[in-house]
Amino acid sequence: MPESDTPVDWPVPQAAYVHVPFCRHRCGYCNFSVIAGRDELSEAYLQALDWELQQRPIIEPVETLFLGGGTPTHLSVEWLERFLQIIAARIPLRPNAEFSIEANPRDIDQAKLELLQRFGLNRISLGVQSFQSAKLATLERDHDEDIASAAIRLAAQSIPQVSIDLIFAAPGETLDSWQRDLDTALALPITHLSTYALTFEKGTQFWNRREKNELTTHDELVELQMYQLARSKAAAAQMTQYEISSFAAAKSECRHNLHYWEGRGWYAYGPGAAGFVDGTRTTNHRSPTTYIRRCHSGVSPIQDEEPIGRVQWACERAAFGIRRIAGLNVNRLHRETGIDVMPLRKAELSPCFEWGLIEWSDDRLRLTEKGIPLADSVSSAFL
Ligand code: SF4
Repeated sequence: MPESDTPVDWPVPQAAYVHVPFCRHRCGYCNFSVIAGRDELSEAYLQALDWELQQRPIIEPVETLFLGGGTPTHLSVEWLERFLQIIAARIPLRPNAEFSIEANPRDIDQAKLELLQRFGLNRISLGVQSFQSAKLATLERDHDEDIASAAIRLAAQSIPQVSIDLIFAAPGETLDSWQRDLDTALALPITHLSTYALTFEKGTQFWNRREKNELTTHDELVELQMYQLARSKAAAAQMTQYEISSFAAAKSECRHNLHYWEGRGWYAYGPGAAGFVDGTRTTNHRSPTTYIRRCHSGVSPIQDEEPIGRVQWACERAAFGIRRIAGLNVNRLHRETGIDVMPLRKAELSPCFEWGLIEWSDDRLRLTEKGIPLADSVSSAFL
């Protein structure tokens, strides 16, 4: 039997994700499953979520749990407490689990932080994106520098791990203004930083506005300069880059994301949530109202189900793994999946070696300094 056909002992997922779709406003660049201005659906959503969690229960305690969105902290204190009660009742956590929540700076206050602390949240990921009013207005975000800085300081007093997201290459942004964002962020009490170039995804308002030339984009060279600036500023602030877009203080890597990148399975609940359990990838209906309606009718909210073969699994794990700065442990991947990706992708990887984008470091295949900004191209060589 060829090794690609032998059955797989799929690992029991150690991670879980729950999607909360509510937001105050849909930002023009956002392509997530979001519902804005419909807070009256909070109760119906929570009932639906509780039902879904009972249909696909998690038996063994997980090592990481991520409450994302949307904006989970957009829920009122009353509904946020009910949400956390449901989560606590349905998702068992290991004693040292990482328990994260996404939050918007404007939602952060003492009452919500006390609630998060009471339910054992130990990591908060704040969608700051920028500290500058003009850029925040372009991105349609509803906070300013004072609100964002105050939220970070307040959160750091009660939650041990504080992460923020920053967007670069927004329309009209300069290298100087990006530098100011980085300087402001790195002077605040954060333990983790994620930076992303703004993307224009089909179906978003930003996509349409760019098509009409209402929004300008940056050329690749400027984006690259901004990316390299983030890397050097983070390094100077003792934030180690451990993945293409992720920087962390000591022992502050996002363990939940490490589970995704290692491709060892995760549970997912809520509208649009995508899980990977027992070799099958599932995606729930993206529309929050459809999700709620289906769950309330006793119908599964899953829209797509795709069984993953052993080769696809190994190649996808390699594509994500190579984006980690420590590199990809090819032998371990072979051991765990039964697939040796190197001969399988020899033709695609040869140019990456020739151009000096990847190199061997012991048994790890890793990006070189030249390859780090070109990680997407290297990654796609595995797919
Ligand atoms: S706050 Fe975040 S999730 Fe909500 S609409 Fe804006 S980008 Fe999307």
